[in-house]
Amino acid sequence: MKKLPNGVLQLEKSRGANGYVLPLGDSYAVIDPGMKSGAGGVIAELSDAGVARDVSHILLTHYDIDHAGAALALVEATGAQLWIGRPDAEILRGQRPAGTFSRRITSSIGRPKLPAEVHFLGESPGFLEEVTAIATPGHTPGHHAFVWGKSVFSGDAVMVRDDGTLKQFPRLLITDKPAALASTAVLESLDVQWICPGHGKVTARR
Ligand SMILES: [Zn+2]
Repeated sequence: MKKLPNGVLQLEKSRGANGYVLPLGDSYAVIDPGMKSGAGGVIAELSDAGVARDVSHILLTHYDIDHAGAALALVEATGAQLWIGRPDAEILRGQRPAGTFSRRITSSIGRPKLPAEVHFLGESPGFLEEVTAIATPGHTPGHHAFVWGKSVFSGDAVMVRDDGTLKQFPRLLITDKPAALASTAVLESLDVQWICPGHGKVTARR
């Protein structure tokens, strides 16, 4: 794992999206463990660092396969609780259709599997005191960002320019454009110093 200047650890063996590890005193939270094909590497990486047994929470910004694919294997390996927005869990469980034609095509090809027990961000009791989950729908209906200290983990709610300003994802990847714009405004209003996106570099705000 790579230690970032904001005190966050970044997974080096995950595939797909950026995966982050938050040191929380006596436990760790993993944000977006990546694709299923990277699960073995992530579990080995956490074990080698001596933290696999102390992972208490796995937080998913949203349901996409490049963020959530490894979640089930990681739950099975660590016994951690899995947290995701309810609408995204319902899409993965086939209880709710994905919001756009292109998303229905992609989710018919392969959907990440969830464990039997899932905790809903913003609803279920027992979420981490040190972390704030913020509903940021748009890219997906149940998308959440996470704030820890002066860092925000923004998933695919936005993309980040080199100067730390935020921009939209390509339209094709957005489920609900007005919601995505509103979520961008919410993220811009946060009092944070670091943006840790789902893709691209961790970037300081200027
Ligand atoms: Zn995504």
